[in-house]
Amino acid sequence: AAGGLVVCFGEMLIDFVPTEAGVSLAEAGGFVKAPGGAPANAAIAVARLGGRAAFVGKLGEDEFGRMLAATLRENGVSDAGVVFDAAARTALAFVTLRADGEREFMFYRHPSADMLLTGAELNVDLIRNASIFHYGSISLIAEPCRSAHLKAMALAKEAGALLSYDPNLRLPLWPSPEEARKQIMSIWDQADIIKVSDVELEFLTGHESVADEVALQLWHPNLKLLLVTLGEKGCKYYTKTFHGAVESFPVKQVDTTGAGDAFVGALLRGIVEHLSSLEDEKKLREVLRFANACGAITTTKKGAIPALPTASEVKQLHES
Ligand code: ADP
Repeated sequence: AAGGLVVCFGEMLIDFVPTEAGVSLAEAGGFVKAPGGAPANAAIAVARLGGRAAFVGKLGEDEFGRMLAATLRENGVSDAGVVFDAAARTALAFVTLRADGEREFMFYRHPSADMLLTGAELNVDLIRNASIFHYGSISLIAEPCRSAHLKAMALAKEAGALLSYDPNLRLPLWPSPEEARKQIMSIWDQADIIKVSDVELEFLTGHESVADEVALQLWHPNLKLLLVTLGEKGCKYYTKTFHGAVESFPVKQVDTTGAGDAFVGALLRGIVEHLSSLEDEKKLREVLRFANACGAITTTKKGAIPALPTASEVKQLHES
């Protein structure tokens, strides 16, 4: 593994996915366990592409927590920032794509281990070593994890890391849409890099559009790069001095789970390797083509982590 260290902070959980497609949770006959959680997926995406990655978060000292830590290690992600809690249970989600195309979620989070990480439990040395510190917004939902999140961000920033934010809106987890918007925006102007999906852009701005003037409502003066992912259409990018769009690759989409995390992982892998891509549009477009290819491949396979591609798989599509 080469390049700077990408440290990803936040939730890691087990998704229980029905064995048969197109059923409601109530109808499901059986489930398979799929390790997930957006920041953990992103860390594994970085490692699978040959980069150095670590995950920071809390797991229950149960069968599920041990399975998740093993998943990190098997994928070459450092678990030096993982803390186990003997008194807490690992977060679980039951996720299904119903026949009507709607996603249905049910969570075990009352409170789950990932929300119980404290500031005192942070691996300070690991966080200080980050070239990029990446996080979502789920860890803002409750204390003590919220304070741990804010402390980790401050430690990383102080040590000179770039802060990367994917709000990863999971509306069913929040007490209300207003609270989600408020908490997501409360750390907005600290990030150097922000990635939102088209759906999140619409939610955060209140406009049903991904027009440049709508995206630019999310701009803040300290930001170096704002990205809007557009599913099969690829992505848009905005910096202080240039902006544009990069198309994705035509693929046979099977399951979009993890595409956004794959995109982020490839993006951060590209940026730690080529820091100048934040200022050089040609280099940035190359990185984004690579990130689109990584996202696209992830949609061709079921699940998040099992679908994340290696560097050579991405290169093949990228150079096609
Ligand atoms: P999220 O998972 O956050 O909703 P998207 O669905 O926008 O994110 O996907 C993230 C990225 O993955 C896109 O910007 C694009 O590069 C790639 N991608 C997603 N779906 C497809 C698709 N059907 N065909 C090609 N690329 C895709």
